[in-house]
Parts: sequence; C-alpha cells; structure tokens
Amino acid sequence: MSNEQTLNDTALDVVIVGAGVSGLYALQHLNGLGYKVRVYEQGGDVGGTWYWNRYPGCRCDIESLEYSFSFDEELEQEWHWPERYGTQPEILRYLNHVVDRYNLRKDIVFNCSISSATFNNNTNQWELVSKDGKHITSQFCIMATGNLSTPRVPDYEDLDVFQGKWYHTGQWPHEGVDFTGLRVGVIGTGSSGVQSIPIIAQQASHLNVFQRTPQFSLPARNGPMDTEKESLHKASYRTLREAAFNTPFGIAGYPPPTHLALDVTPDERQASYEEKWAEGGSISFLYTYKDLLVDKKANDTAANFVRDKIRQTVKDQNVAEKLIPYDHPIGTKRLILDSGYFETYNRDNVSLVDIREAPIERFTSEGLRTTDGKHYELDAVVFATGFDAMTGALSNIDLDNGAGLTIQDKWSNGPRCFMGLAMAGFPNLFMITGPQSPSVKTQMILASQQHTDWIADFLEYMRHNGFTRFNVDQEAEDAWVIHNNDIADSTLYPLANSWYVGANVPGKPRVFMPYVGGFDRYKKACDALARNGYPGIRLSNDIGTLSNGD
Ligand code: NAP
Repeated sequence: MSNEQTLNDTALDVVIVGAGVSGLYALQHLNGLGYKVRVYEQGGDVGGTWYWNRYPGCRCDIESLEYSFSFDEELEQEWHWPERYGTQPEILRYLNHVVDRYNLRKDIVFNCSISSATFNNNTNQWELVSKDGKHITSQFCIMATGNLSTPRVPDYEDLDVFQGKWYHTGQWPHEGVDFTGLRVGVIGTGSSGVQSIPIIAQQASHLNVFQRTPQFSLPARNGPMDTEKESLHKASYRTLREAAFNTPFGIAGYPPPTHLALDVTPDERQASYEEKWAEGGSISFLYTYKDLLVDKKANDTAANFVRDKIRQTVKDQNVAEKLIPYDHPIGTKRLILDSGYFETYNRDNVSLVDIREAPIERFTSEGLRTTDGKHYELDAVVFATGFDAMTGALSNIDLDNGAGLTIQDKWSNGPRCFMGLAMAGFPNLFMITGPQSPSVKTQMILASQQHTDWIADFLEYMRHNGFTRFNVDQEAEDAWVIHNNDIADSTLYPLANSWYVGANVPGKPRVFMPYVGGFDRYKKACDALARNGYPGIRLSNDIGTLSNGD
C-alpha cells in the first residue's frame, strides 16, 4: 500500500461503498462540495447492476430518455441513446462516459470488497475493513450497495457433480457465452429469465425452461430511437425531469390515469388496454386506470386481458395455460417487459418444464432430475433465479455500531429504516435507496439522485452548524416503518410472493420492503424533513454514549 493510499484511506469525510449509479453520483456531488470522498467497489470497474448483469438480452425496462442522470444539462444533451430501451452495454458505456467526463475514476478503489464496518463511538468515525485487509476511516459512511446486487443460486443437491457449465444472470462472464448447438436449461422466469430466454433459444440446439411460477409480461416494443421524439424530449428535459419528481413512479412520460377500471364499459376497457399493449411499457399499462394496484376486481380486468394475449400468442394451449399466472394480481410482482418471450414457446427447440408440478430433485453429471423421475440432459444451465433483494448486500457486511448492535440483529425480523436513508442506532451512516424508500418502485437513477441530494444538504447543514454526529430517533424510525407497512397493506402488493417481501429467499422474514406510497409523496416527506430542521434525527457532538434504540 502506498503512503498516498494510506493517507487517503484514513482521512476521509465520506466513504462510499459501491460504484454503481448511486455511488457514482454521490462521489460526483460530494466531491463538488469539497468533501474528501472515496468509493470502494467490489467489482473490477464501475456500473454496479450494469457491470454484473451481462446476460443475453439484458436491457433496462424504463425508456432510455428517462433512465439517465439529470444533474447536468450538457450531459443530457450530448448523450444519444440509440434505442427506446437502453441495452446493458449501452448503459455501461454511458456510465463510463459519466465517470470520465467528471474525472471520477481517480477516487474509486476497485476489486475491494468491504467485509466489516464498525462505528467508533469515541471518535465519531466509521472504520471499514476490506477483504484484502485495507483499513478505511471516515466520518460518514454511505452504503450505495444496490438493491439487486446479491445473486442467489438455490441450494440444489449435487450441483457440484454437474459436468456442464453453469452461470447466474447476475454474474455473467465478461467474454459472453456462446450457446450455439448446446442443450441449455434456464431456471427462473423473472425479468432476467424472460429477457434472456428468446436469445438463448436462437442459439441452443434445445432449450428447457424450468418454470416454478408463471409471470405477467408485456411487449416492450423496443426499436431504434425515434429521433423526432428524442429532439422533443431533449428540448423539454427540464420540464419533464421536474414533472418526473411529481409522479408516483418517478417517470414523466405517461399521463396519470383519471378513471377507475370498473367505472367504464368492458368495451372501453378493452380498447384502452389494447392501446397500452400496442404502445409497450409496464408503467404505461399499469397507468391505464387509477385502481389497478388497489382493487382486486379492477386488477382482474387487466390480468385477464394479458392472460388472453398469452393464449393468443402461444400456439399449444397446454403450454399457454402453464405460462399464465393466476397466483398474484398483475403488477404486484415486477411487471416484466419482453421482446418475443411468449412467442419463443412456439419454437420446436424450446420446452417448458413445470417445476411447480415436479420440482428439481438434484443435479447429475449429465443434467438434472425432477421429482417425477424425468432426467433432462444439459450442456449448460443458466440460473435466472434472482437476488437476495434489498437487504442482501448490507447484511453480508459485518456492520456494527460499536455499542453492541449489528445489522443482523437489527434486521432479524426484517429491515427497519428511517425513510430508507438511515437507521436508528447507526450514527453517521446513510443508505442510498435503502429498504422503506421508493427505490425499486421508481426510476432508480432519479431515486439515487434525490437521496444523494438530500444527504448532501443534510451534511451541509451539519457542517454549517458544527455537528459531528447524527443518530435517528427510534420513535421516528418506528413511525416510518408503520407508515410504510400501512401503505403497502392498503394495496394489492402484499398478495404476491415476490422478492419485494423476500419470498424468494427461504427463511427470510416476510416484510414488504419498498415504499409504495409514490415517489412524489415520499419526496415531499424528505423535503419537509429538511425544511423543518430534521425532526426525528438527533444532531450532536456526542462521543462515547450511544443508544441502540431499544
Ligand atoms: P426474480 O424476479 O426474483 O426471478 C427469479 C426467478 O427464479 C423466478 O421465476 C423464481 O420463481 C425463480 N426461482 C428462484 N428460486 C428458485 C428455485 N429455488 N427453484 C426454481 N425457481 C426458482 O429475479 P430476476 O429475474 O433476476 O429479476 C429480479 C429483478 O431485477 C426484477 O424484478 C427487476 O426489478 C430487476 N431486473 C430488471 C430488468 C430490467 O430492467 N429489464 C432485468 C432483469 C432484472 P418464483 O417466482 O417461484 O420464486
């Protein structure tokens, strides 16, 4: 370790863990305010989600003109998105452009995985240790560790005896994978599976899709960027960005719904859904009526529309029925956007295997066996089995408040956070888009910017008023958690066994994690907190004493 490295690692104002979208903007913004900031990233380069998820067909399900930074008008104007929805390589190129444009790379340490973070109550400093033994000290710590950054491979028996190759979509080889002529199995039919299956099907000699739960998916209607639309959008960027902050999903492009689904005739409903289906886009579809996510009967009208579309697309009606979801209201799991997903099941080289009926029993050297005694011979397996979402990355760090409280203790019954930004008992620690903030239920770049801007204002407030420590009041955190749960309970979301409630990870406490009261409402609450001098957060110059909030 060089002297310069030692000095920088131990004299930080702010340490940021993670160089994805949120860590990059936090670095750029806080550097600009004169803080000594450094980012530690476990990957070999920047990009977070877009660095790791390189599976075939990976692209964003939010339109590229929306899914971008809004902090610099020149950046907005100079970047051209070639397609309606950005592909993974294009988004990664964009993030690298941002890094180079603002000279951020010099303050990022790569291949550095943080294993522990402990608050020193006597110095008001966070002390972090990396897996390779680096020691980092900083007054404030920002966890920009992402919501979908801990890939999960289910605990299958005998996976180690399988002689073929296996991959997880969230840890895809950088050199890519050529499936040409191979017998491939894809396990999982969430967004990652649904995006990759049509492409893998074009290469494989045979593709078996192992589906546990069918999912609703809509056509993305991707295509080359409409240049006229791009010019108009760019000319109105300020207004549109401002408008996005005042919408529930943080996206400005779609007019908010004005009617209830059951207040219009069936013919009118059908026409509206057809229009949205033709237009493409998940938010647009869920925006058809005001009550789709709160009234089951209203939701049924939209769900039945999509069920019919699946029946019309898939030629074999036995296969179609297996692909139709009945177990959850539409939109209560992340609504998927696809390009030719259901059509893929009309190919001769694609089979659907229902592992709800006959689960996977074990892997063999040649493939895998299901409980009905069938054996599937496979050369390669793709796990599209998702993530330990929202809490996984932070729970994997030994996070300790130095006074006897660890994150594992605090979250033993599910995450508890104050507005997804901070936690009682963990002073001087922030999360960006943490649990109980809108995070995954909004446009993530916009959410990351809003959190970072709020944190920056708060740090400036502390600096100007001479405070060295903040700690969230337990009552304030409890009230927010109750509010978060009350709002979720007033919607249909908790009816789904989704990763929003941790249902995909055996043994994970079932708690509804994202805030679904709407980004606009959430931002107003954050703004009010700042305007009123941060009630619910104790600011001090304390050393030593620390309440664990119990
Ligand atoms: P996911 O939505 O959690 O889907 C995982 C799939 O694997 C599900 O079908 C799940 O079945 C199945 N699975 C999990 N464990 C299994 C097991 N033990 N045996 C059999 N099947 C199992 O994960 P994902 O597709 O990676 O997507 C996660 C999130 O990432 C998305 O919801 C989205 O927010 C984000 N994402 C976005 C995009 C995009 O922008 N276009 C693309 C990819 C991902 P069950 O449903 O039965 O659990």
